Amino acid sequence: MKDKCNRKIKHIRFSVTDKCNFNCIYCDNEGFIPKTTELTVEEIKKICRLLAEILNVTRIKFTGGEPLSRKDIIPIIQQVSDLGLYKDISMTTNGYLLYEKAEDLVRAGLNRINVSLPSLKPDVYKKITGSDSLSKVLKGLNKAKEVGLFPIKINYVMLKGLNDLELEDFIEFSAKTGYILQLIELHARSDAIGKEKEFYVKYHLDLSDIIKSLVEKAVDVKIRGLMQNRKVLFLSNGAIVEAIHPSHEFCMGCTKLRVGCDGNLFGCLYRADRGKNIKNDLNLNSLEHFEKVIREVVDSREPYY
Ligand code: SAM
Repeated sequence: MKDKCNRKIKHIRFSVTDKCNFNCIYCDNEGFIPKTTELTVEEIKKICRLLAEILNVTRIKFTGGEPLSRKDIIPIIQQVSDLGLYKDISMTTNGYLLYEKAEDLVRAGLNRINVSLPSLKPDVYKKITGSDSLSKVLKGLNKAKEVGLFPIKINYVMLKGLNDLELEDFIEFSAKTGYILQLIELHARSDAIGKEKEFYVKYHLDLSDIIKSLVEKAVDVKIRGLMQNRKVLFLSNGAIVEAIHPSHEFCMGCTKLRVGCDGNLFGCLYRADRGKNIKNDLNLNSLEHFEKVIREVVDSREPYY
């Protein structure tokens, strides 16, 4: 299904909880208002089936809050994988519970993982995430690699004056481990959860120049057309860096549909208010009804919000 700007929906970003064991200072809450009720495993499975059948999507990313803090996260992955409709099941996590759960996640059908890692320095890591657990997360990453989650991506949100001088360390780390480094520009939070302009002004760093200089040094550059036209840079030391930098190309390349943990279906991180909650409709069993609702949400998608 395409939206009014000819952008085809190709993947789903599904938040399974709004609860998190961390308190990252930059967190956007995935665009929705916290303190909502969570869908059950059965409801998640139903929504995933409907979305796959109606939209023909085969890619899904689970997120949160912290998805691994949901006690039934393994059955969630298992049930969605058992549908046999998704060929790419991934997750973004803070990694705190990865060491314990990585093996079961793979067994349940998880293919790959993104781990938020805002610093390689324990004190800075704690300052940003509120959790003194860098070594535990690094152990979790090792485990994830060992059990075959691939590729592993590191989400490094750059914050001016806090962790921005660690870029070279992250590039080295990426080359050494084989993890793909996602260099992420801080974005402002949506109105729905309350924009904090002061925070944004204080920590936002425009990554244009950094990306430009990395592009100049790169031995190869590709564009991920599937994912917001992101640049993928192959550096001479073997590191792979993906740049996530909000821009016109970024919005025009957006192919995502989002589901909040309460069942709100929405088309843009910044426009959860334009969503439609489908939780109460799930027992209707009318494909026609869901096609209509999904069409409305897809039609509400507009670049630049
Ligand atoms: N708890 C999980 C985690 O830490 O990965 C999943 C939820 S978290 C909201 C998902 C990702 O959103 C993080 O990896 C981070 O890269 C990104 N993110 C959150 N707030 C952001 C912001 N204000 N600007 C840029 N990226 C942000």
